[in-house]
Amino acid sequence: MNSFPDHRTLYRLPWSLADNPIAWLEPTESCNIYCEGCYRARVKDGHKSIQEVHEDLRTFARHRNFDGVSIAGGDPLTHPEIVTIVAMVRAMGYKPILNTNGVALTDELLRELKAAGLVGVTLHIDSKQTRPGWKDKTEVELNDVRLDFAERVASVGDISCAFNATVYEDTLPYVPEVLQWARRHIDKVHEIVFIAYRQASGAYADSMDFYVGGERISMGDLVYSRPAGEQRLDISSRDIVAEIRKRYPDFSPCAYLNGTEKADSLKWLLTTYIGSKSKVYGYVGPRFMEVAQTYHHLRNGRFLAYAPPSTLRHGRSISIAGSTFDRGVRGALGRYLGEALTRPLSPFPRLHLQSVMIIQPADILADGRMNMCDACPDMTVHEGKLVWSCRLEELKKYGAFARGVPREETAKDCVPTS
Ligand code: SF4
Repeated sequence: MNSFPDHRTLYRLPWSLADNPIAWLEPTESCNIYCEGCYRARVKDGHKSIQEVHEDLRTFARHRNFDGVSIAGGDPLTHPEIVTIVAMVRAMGYKPILNTNGVALTDELLRELKAAGLVGVTLHIDSKQTRPGWKDKTEVELNDVRLDFAERVASVGDISCAFNATVYEDTLPYVPEVLQWARRHIDKVHEIVFIAYRQASGAYADSMDFYVGGERISMGDLVYSRPAGEQRLDISSRDIVAEIRKRYPDFSPCAYLNGTEKADSLKWLLTTYIGSKSKVYGYVGPRFMEVAQTYHHLRNGRFLAYAPPSTLRHGRSISIAGSTFDRGVRGALGRYLGEALTRPLSPFPRLHLQSVMIIQPADILADGRMNMCDACPDMTVHEGKLVWSCRLEELKKYGAFARGVPREETAKDCVPTS
């Protein structure tokens, strides 16, 4: 079994249900394209009113100490009052971050959103979307779309720019090339997120029954259900790391969130490195991430979501400070300084930080337990409560989360006793 990295060598991010960098706001169920890996059923004009969005934000604030609000959906740009929503999040003292496919993101809207207080944008771009003009393109061909967005976001200035992509069995081999593209554009791309593909009944559609309370339900009726066998449903964070290490053997994660049922599941796996536009010099270690999270919490009373680009491009100062307590940063700085003589025209190019987050969403275990992300950052609001956004459709359809029961166990329970 692929066991790298060992979670015990990494920093366990200090996030919890009540104190977490992120809240996940869904102002709309409407979307303008279809993505195969989406967890949400599309509802035409399924927008919440401004009052409902405000109430959701107040619910978050009652339950969770947080720094940034991921404004998702649906696609949040389909909401006719998205600029007002961004301004409202900012006025309440949080960082608004849009999670969008970008299809409706015009330059004019981007400037309006920035003026309203937008801090970051995460663009979901992958090859299993019905993106107009880009159907049937490979992940590598889609780097052109990514670059167009990265340049447009950079031209507006000081907006954090991230990209995410769902990783399927047949797109896993492209991950290193997408990462290579991101590294080349380290000055404009601040984070890249790879999310392993999942669907409602996991790998157990044929061997498990699902229940809500005592009632058997059909997970196949949920929007994120597909026939078993179409794609692997158990790609792990470690599988993605292994694929990346074929191209970058030194790729070294530093921090993680474990699973609710399995301590060694790497549900959120964070890697951060220091580099210039032409080269990555090294990876920050667990200690650097521990200091960064702790320092931000001590200073601001919150864990950090989305460092601003103006901070991330100060890689030299960060490296000098970080090298005093983190071995990984010390190594990166040493290589950077050691190679200065080989760059006579520009001995000290600007250094940047870039992060890779790998997400391994809900896993159904063989005994029916759901192994969720411990301290789930992407909790959303449903009927006044915080709930896993990836399983919201279960609540909407059945009123509660489903649990799995292996078929053998169901059969055992049905054996007549006399
Ligand atoms: S448990 Fe939370 S963080 Fe993990 S996939 Fe589900 S919504 Fe996302």
